[in-house]
Amino acid sequence: MFALIDGNSFFASCERVFRPDLWRRPVIVLSNNDGCVIARSAEAKEAGIPMGAPFFKVAGLAKRYGVAVFSCNYELYADLSARMMACIASLAPALEVYSIDEAFADLSGIADASALGMKIRRRILQWIGVPACVGVAPSKTLAKFCNHLAKKNPCFSGVCNWGDLSQDERLQWMRSFRVSELWGIGRKLGEKLPEQRIRTVFDLHEADPAAMRRRYGVTVERIVHELHGIPCLEFEEIAPTQRQILRSRSFAEEVSDIDEIKAAVTRHAHSAAAALRQQDALASCVGVTIHTSRFKAERHFGWDVSSLPAPTSDTLVLSAAAVRLAERIFRPGMKYKKAGVVLLELTNANAHTGDFFNPGDSARSRALMRTIDSINARYGGEAVKSAAELVGTKWHTRRDHLSPCYTTRWDELRQIR
Ligand SMILES: [Mg+2]
Repeated sequence: MFALIDGNSFFASCERVFRPDLWRRPVIVLSNNDGCVIARSAEAKEAGIPMGAPFFKVAGLAKRYGVAVFSCNYELYADLSARMMACIASLAPALEVYSIDEAFADLSGIADASALGMKIRRRILQWIGVPACVGVAPSKTLAKFCNHLAKKNPCFSGVCNWGDLSQDERLQWMRSFRVSELWGIGRKLGEKLPEQRIRTVFDLHEADPAAMRRRYGVTVERIVHELHGIPCLEFEEIAPTQRQILRSRSFAEEVSDIDEIKAAVTRHAHSAAAALRQQDALASCVGVTIHTSRFKAERHFGWDVSSLPAPTSDTLVLSAAAVRLAERIFRPGMKYKKAGVVLLELTNANAHTGDFFNPGDSARSRALMRTIDSINARYGGEAVKSAAELVGTKWHTRRDHLSPCYTTRWDELRQIR
């Protein structure tokens, strides 16, 4: 038995945790550089603000409805996410974190799964302050489906258990759900399936698994089985090591100074290297991209990769390599809009054995990185950084509506008078 626990309008809900004055007000959160709407509270949805809309297009509407607008504050969301997962783990026997606000729990052997679902939901609300919904079912696909039902239909009070529904109810809910919105059905399939008269989840449920396999491959066959309550997707308690780590941001203003580009690249290398160490991995390859706006007449898309002498997770080695790449691809006179760093060919640090010529990171380097990580964990992500990052501010991200990092920075604690 699986449960899928999912925070409701997660980013918008996080913004409300320390702002009770926003509980009934519409809230939206914007993407990097305050570009587009990436999260909406239920009230903001009702006000008719579309997901993904550029902010300038809905700014008027937002003003009319008194919408509270926020720049995305990933530091706050990531911290509340970690707390939410720890809260779920305090009740569920095994947990698979699926995204920043979603986790699958393995409920095998639990007698009353609905009661546990209710308890998880209550505890997240009480401990973290974020509303969440729970879907319980014998397969992951159905758990995700139930979660969606719980979210959209108040009659479930936030927890939908497939086992509590009659066969008639199950079929009815499946008939009311478009196949294109089902978990695992991508956009392409979502367009193709209706051409074969598979329009709703019910239609897919009724389809012949073997025929589905022949036509669309094994993934769709598995989804059909999963809809019948036969689990085909395994529970992955430990997320597999990511294949690559990418950090990229667009700049607040265009940048044509190589030192500012180097500052941005250094920042991304620092952040990517920290993520690399967090998953106990080493990178053998670094890639850097810098590019101008694609709407400009004079465009340049710069991209280059270099492999490192030995797999490493040392920020200084990785950022030096990234800076060399940036120098190589930079073209004077161009106005750059975005920079990114990607770490590639990742391996598990524990599985790596150095050789005589390339022994890998020294004990000294590992101790230094541990120290940097612990200082940054304590005082905020950028407490220790390279001096190179202090150059310029045009490459910084625009965040005009940023909320405080209530839970991770001492100087931004909520004050009560
Ligand atoms: Mg969510």
